[in-house]
Amino acid sequence: MTTTSQAPNQAPRHSSAKAQAAGTNSGRRGTARRRLIAAARRLREVGSIASALASTAHPYMAHIVPMRRCNLACTYCNEFDDVSSPVSVEEMRRRVAHLGRLGTSVITISGGEPLLHPELEEVIRSIRGTGAIAGMITNGYLLMPERIERLNRAGLDHMQISIDNVMPDEVSKKSLKVLDAKLAMLAEHAEFHVNINSVVGGGIANPEDALTISRRALELGFSSTIGIIHDGSGQLKPLGSRERKVWDEVRRLTRRSYSRFNGFQEAIANGMPNDWRCRAGSRYLYVDENGIVSYCSQQRGYPGVPIAEYTTAMVKREFLTEKSCAPNCTISCVHQVSYIDHWRAPQKTTVTPGGEGHGASSGLVQIR
Ligand code: SF4
Ligand code: SF4
Repeated sequence: MTTTSQAPNQAPRHSSAKAQAAGTNSGRRGTARRRLIAAARRLREVGSIASALASTAHPYMAHIVPMRRCNLACTYCNEFDDVSSPVSVEEMRRRVAHLGRLGTSVITISGGEPLLHPELEEVIRSIRGTGAIAGMITNGYLLMPERIERLNRAGLDHMQISIDNVMPDEVSKKSLKVLDAKLAMLAEHAEFHVNINSVVGGGIANPEDALTISRRALELGFSSTIGIIHDGSGQLKPLGSRERKVWDEVRRLTRRSYSRFNGFQEAIANGMPNDWRCRAGSRYLYVDENGIVSYCSQQRGYPGVPIAEYTTAMVKREFLTEKSCAPNCTISCVHQVSYIDHWRAPQKTTVTPGGEGHGASSGLVQIR
C-alpha cells in the first residue's frame, strides 16, 4: 500500500499555531480540545515505548487488513484486488483481541482501502479497547466531514495518506489535485494526527511533486514523510540527481521526522544495502485479510500462522531470527520498529522467507 509508515512516536505537527500561521484554519474548531487529545496521545505513545524497552516479548506494531479491495489501482502496488469482500467485524474483533493478548502496542489498519470497510469504526474501537494506539493508512478518496467525525468518535489516533503526484497519471491517481479538498477537510475536522507521505522513485514522473506535497502538508499543520518506490525488479538502485535533490529538500523540511532513521533511508536512497536486525514476526506482525501472520506485506505467507494460533513463544523465537532479505529491504516501518531493539540481542538463527523448508507447511524457521 505504501512504502513508508510513520513512526507512531513522532511529535504531531497538527498544531493550530502552525496552521494559523499558514492561514489555513479559519474554520478550525476546538483547538484546546485537540491539544488535550494530542497530549493524551503522546503520553500513551511514551508509555508504549517504555513498555517496548522494558520487554522484548511482545509485538510493538501490527498491520491488519480488514479488506483487500481498493477503489484505486496504482500500477506499482501488489497489495490490492478489486473483488474481495470485507472481513466481518466479529472476526476482526477476534483478531484484534488476540493482538491485544500478545501485548501489541500499536495496531494500524491497512489494505486495500480501509475506508471501504462498512464497519471500520468498530474495528478502531476494538483496537482502542485493547489499550493499543490505533492507526490507519488510507488513500483518502472516501473522506468526508461526517466520516472524519466518525473516525474521531471511534478513537483513531493516527492517519497516514500517501500522495504520489500533483496531477493524476497512468501510474497513480493518489494526487494532490484530487486530494487537496480532503486534506482541507482533515485540517478542519480531524482530532487525530495526520501524516502525509510523498514518494520519489520508480514510475513517478515528476520528482518535484514530492516537494509540493510535503510543503502543502506542513502548511496544513500535518506532519510529512517521504518514501522511495522501487521499480518492478525490486533491486536497490540509487536515486537520480533530480530525485536526490528533492529527497534532500524534503528531508530538510521534515528533519524532525527522520532524525533517528536517516541511516536506513539514506542507504536506500544511495542504492546501498543496510546492516540491521529485522524483528518481523516478533516486534512487527502483518496480519492479512485471511488472518494469517506474515513477516511483512512483501513476505506474505511466511511464517504463515493464523493469528489465533500465534504465541508469545513465536514472538520470542522470531525476535532472534535473522531474515536473509534484510540487507535489501526497503520497508521503512519494519525498520523503524526494529530500531527500538537495535542495540540488543544479536540474532542466532536465520531464515530465508520462501526458501526451501520455510513457510506455512514446513514449520516456522530454519535453524542455522
Ligand atoms: S491506493 Fe494504496 S492499496 Fe490502493 S492500489 Fe494504490 S497503493 Fe495499492
Ligand atoms: S527484512 Fe524481509 S521480512 Fe523483514 S521487513 Fe524486510 S522484507 Fe520483510
